[in-house]
Amino acid sequence: MESCIFCKIINGDIPSEKVYEDDKVYAFKDLNPEAPIHILIIPKTHITNTNEINEENASVISSLFISVAKIAKMLNVDESGYRVVNNCGKQGGQTVEHLHFHMLGGRDLTWPPG
Ligand code: AMP
Ligand code: ZN
Repeated sequence: MESCIFCKIINGDIPSEKVYEDDKVYAFKDLNPEAPIHILIIPKTHITNTNEINEENASVISSLFISVAKIAKMLNVDESGYRVVNNCGKQGGQTVEHLHFHMLGGRDLTWPPG
């Protein structure tokens, strides 16, 4: 999708700090980190948000979560713990309309988030 900033990050038109990549997934550092570790994990195909998850893209979605486990080990937070967050739509606080999971770690995270 041409106007989508995360699609532009995937094809290299906007720079990013890559953390992980495979055939279906791209992961990079959030520009405004809320924790020492704040990674965004996104599908390489444009999916707007969790409302668009279905049987057809199920393999992409499972790859996103498999990459969470890989990145956790890579960044050494698999033992200390971390949080995976998705914001969907206006009231959910979604500002970029390309499905993404925030992975936060490296400090104690409060709950509920507010
Ligand atoms: P959300 O509010 O869930 O839609 O999250 C969007 C996230 O994308 C925010 O945490 C932003 O800091 C982050 N973000 C926006 N533009 C960029 C960018 N060019 N590179 C890295 N992160 C970005
Ligand atoms: Zn996109």
